[in-house]
Formats: sequence, C-alpha cells, structure tokens
Amino acid sequence: MILDCAKYSGPCSCGREHPLETKMVVVEYDALKNFDSYMDACGLTGRRTVLYDTNTYNLPGMVHVRADKEIVLEAKGLHSEKSLIEGIIPELDEPDVIITVGSGTLMDFARYNAFHMGIPFVAIPTLASSDGFTANVCSVVIDGHKRSIPMSAPALVVADLNIIAGAPMLLTVSGVADILSKHISLADWKIAHLVAGEYYCERVAGMAQQALDMMVSCAYSLLDGDEPDFEAMTMAQMISGLSMQMLGNSRAASGAEHLIAHLVEMKPPRFEGAHGIHGECVGVGSVICAGEYHRMARSKPRARPFEPLAESWIREKFGPLADGIIKENQDDVLAAFDPQNIVDNWDGIREIISYIPTAEEFAAVFKGLDGKYRLSDIGIDEALAGEVLDISAAIRNRLTFARMRRVLDLEE
Ligand SMILES: [Zn+2]
Ligand SMILES: [Zn+2]
Repeated sequence: MILDCAKYSGPCSCGREHPLETKMVVVEYDALKNFDSYMDACGLTGRRTVLYDTNTYNLPGMVHVRADKEIVLEAKGLHSEKSLIEGIIPELDEPDVIITVGSGTLMDFARYNAFHMGIPFVAIPTLASSDGFTANVCSVVIDGHKRSIPMSAPALVVADLNIIAGAPMLLTVSGVADILSKHISLADWKIAHLVAGEYYCERVAGMAQQALDMMVSCAYSLLDGDEPDFEAMTMAQMISGLSMQMLGNSRAASGAEHLIAHLVEMKPPRFEGAHGIHGECVGVGSVICAGEYHRMARSKPRARPFEPLAESWIREKFGPLADGIIKENQDDVLAAFDPQNIVDNWDGIREIISYIPTAEEFAAVFKGLDGKYRLSDIGIDEALAGEVLDISAAIRNRLTFARMRRVLDLEE
C-alpha cells in the first residue's frame, strides 16, 4: 500500500492547514527493491548518507540501498542522547539526504541531525512496534532529562514488510497496544474539547480513529489464529504518526494511558523496578484507564474548586524528579476552565466513554496475544494501583479525564 500524504494536508474545517513534511509512505513486501523509484518520485536526489546499526545492517533479508556513504553504528549501548547524536555529524560527509535504517533510536539520530542541517531524511523502519516513525517529535536525553522536542519528520518512509514481518512477535504486539491505546487518547481529547473548549480537529481525530479501527480488526484476527496482517498493522502505525505530524503534537495519539509509559521511563520512588517497551507500558496504561474511566462514568459527579498540586505531595511522590514536575504543573490546565462544565457535560462524557472497551476486554486482548496487561507485568507493585493514575497524571500538563478527577467528587 502506498500512501500519498498530500491528501491529508491543506486547509481544514478546523481552521488550520496541517502541513506534512512526509510526502509518501510505502508499506509493501519487497519495497526496498524499488527504493530508488520512490526517492525519485519524492524528488530526493543528491548525496546519500545511509545510517544503520550493527543489528539492522546484518538483518536477514536486508537490502542495502545505494549509498554515497554508509555509517554502521555499534548497536550495543546506542541510545538517544544529544551528545551521541551530534557526535556523528562529522562522519555524515555533508549529505543532501540522510537515510536511516532501524527503529526509534536510529530514527532520532537521523531526524535530529537532518533538522539541524536543514536537509530531508528518509526512514526505513525495521519494526512496527510504535507509531513514532512518521511523527515529527523526538525523545532525546539532554543533560540527563528525557525531553520531547520538535524535529523533522521523514520526507519518505519505505517499510519493507519482508523485514518487518521478521521482527519478534512481542514487538508486533507492542505495536498493536500502542494503537489500541487510541481508544483512551481520543476520548481524552474529545472530553477536553467538550468541557474546556480545547482545540479539536475532526480530520486528525478521524485519522487516529482510522488507525485504531484497522488495528482492532488486526488484533481480533490475530486472536482468531489468522496470519498477521503486517501491511495493515504497519500502515496503522504510519497513519497514527501522521496524525501527530499534522497537529505538531501528540494530542490525538497520547492520553492518560501514555503517561504510564512515561512513569516507567522516569522511575520515581517506588517505581524503580518498572520496565517494559513503550507499547507494553501503554497497553497496561490502557487497561487501567479503561477501568477507571468506566467507573467514573458510572458515578455521580460534583464539581470541586481547583487547587494546585501541593508541593509536598509532588516531593513525596517524585523525590529527586520533583522540581521538573513542579515546573510542568505551573500553568495547570485544570485552572483554565470551570469544573462545573464537566458536570454539565456528563451525559456527553458518558457517551464518549461508552465507546471505550472495558478493562476486562482490553486485558483479554493483550493476554490472548501473550502481551502485558497487569501492572506487575511491567514491574510495578500492584499495591500502587490506587495511586498510579494520580502520579502519572502529574507528569504532563495535559487535560485528560484522569486529571479531571482533581476537580471532581465522584459518588458511586
Ligand atoms: Zn483540521
Ligand atoms: Zn505511543
């Protein structure tokens, strides 16, 4: 399947233009054999520097595309850290285009440097374990802190399904969970629009929904024992990533459930043993949010006046990370609207929540795919279940339904 991205950008009824740097997304078996023709179609000419790591260079079935310069980074210990990423600039040999062959980390090496050099980059993903490939944000460690910063998106993505289909199943399942989580993130966005008038776009939400619908059907056919539909699963990742690029942020694709994955990465006190790859943590987050959101929707709400998070609470829960969390919550999104709006729109909220699968349904899907679905599966003590959403919601100043509990009293 070849996606001409031009159809998604351009003037929209939401009032924005949704520019896309990505011109074309190719998701096909044997796609790399026709790589040069896709480059030509996108007008990507000139000197090519191609980036691999020692794993992706030696992958079975890898077709090494024509290169003016090849760089093969040592895979062991490779991670997205600014100093490491900038360290390869002298080796790049002044390319006109950077091509990167690999997953998230190698993507960051290309998108960061391409952005700073003002040149395009091309992504050849070797996995479909998350939806970051077509996004234009980059998670980089800067001075010890992980930060999401705006970066270039690939001008062209060529996903060769011969290679993607060879990835370990647990990475495929992680990719399924990352997309199924849109059940929660889309609900969070719609509720924020409803109660706080937050900007919302039907076209972008529609794309995230399209990715979600595709992945739901792939997940159920996997559960039925069918052959995995790698084409549809990979395309769902790409479409979700494009939704982030169109907004310039991850609003459609990342809600309260994604904050559980951030929690795992940050490892505040009592979460030191947390582990798991992105999609696995997001999947567990989705189970937890689904349970809580349905419980909330069943209750009778009463509005409570906004109060900022207490500094003592933040220090207790986040320990050495507290200063960053305090800063993040300075302009609390909860303070920007009347909590009574939530109560007044409760029927609308219930309607939105009614489309989210129950926690049991979510868990059954992940369990059926041998994926992670409990806190203990990602190294979090089940005894922390009652607090996990309060703590994770404080990580990011984004209006989620989970965060709204701070201005609500809920009666069973
Ligand atoms: Zn729009
Ligand atoms: Zn994700």
